[in-house]
Amino acid sequence: MWVHTRAHMSVKGSLHPKRRRRTIHRTPAAAAETAATAEEEGEGSGAMASVAAAEGAAAALRSVLSRAQQAAARSGRVVAVSKTKPVGVIRGVYDAGHRCFGENYVQELIDKAPQLPEDIEWHFIGNLQSNKARALLAGVPNLDMVESVDDQKIANRLDRVVADLGRKPLKVLVQVNTSGEESKFGVDPSGCVELAKHVKLGCPNLVFSGLMTIGMLDYSSTPENFRALANCRKEVCKELGIPEEQCELSMGMSADFEQAIEMGSTNVRVGSTIFGAREYPKKN
Ligand SMILES: *Cc1c(COP(=O)(O)O)cnc(C)c1O
Repeated sequence: MWVHTRAHMSVKGSLHPKRRRRTIHRTPAAAAETAATAEEEGEGSGAMASVAAAEGAAAALRSVLSRAQQAAARSGRVVAVSKTKPVGVIRGVYDAGHRCFGENYVQELIDKAPQLPEDIEWHFIGNLQSNKARALLAGVPNLDMVESVDDQKIANRLDRVVADLGRKPLKVLVQVNTSGEESKFGVDPSGCVELAKHVKLGCPNLVFSGLMTIGMLDYSSTPENFRALANCRKEVCKELGIPEEQCELSMGMSADFEQAIEMGSTNVRVGSTIFGAREYPKKN
């Protein structure tokens, strides 16, 4: 599901070297090697050998690119942020094959979810008041993740409601305020370890799945915000004794998702680039 940038990164870095060696595509590479050797040894048909080598390498490249793309698709997801958009438009994106959508108002999601297919994986990405947790979980059985847990109170509340409703454990991310802006929700970076620990150890009905941040006010995060979230992950994983691959980073939106992916995001939240600009009802 990732864009090409990610595939490119995978080629450079994230594939496990052992695995890369084991699963290497033998035929074209071997063909290239044989051809190259033939050429080196001066077996007469040098030109033909080098054509074969080039063809072999090109075929091997195609195979590597396709495998890298598949590996990249497994390693990250795009949350299509559909807030303010009508169900008809969301349905169109669903019909194009997408299954993961994000909303940030409880009432709006409760209204829309029942009108759309059940195999959608909804992510709740907005600020959640504890008195709305029950309505959210009861109204959206296919809620896959709450990305915006920012204090113990809401964590405890979600934990309790999941148990009451007999739902399967709910995946949550801890939202971190990496920009320091007062207007932003999220726990201060200095408090992320404690909150993550509370979710992991104190909330048996929640699955601690990683960290989320929203960048600067203009919605174009600076690399510092992304770096700060990655640092939080380091601390959290060390303290909880979990590998970093088990701790997602939700960062990057329309303006900066490619940069976020380059900096380790596993979950980008893209709204306006998919659905067009949002129109909010005029307040008066
Ligand atoms: C609206 C929203 C987005 C999507 O923003 P775009 O700039 O339209 O891609 C992402 N994350 C959160 C938390 C949002 O509220």
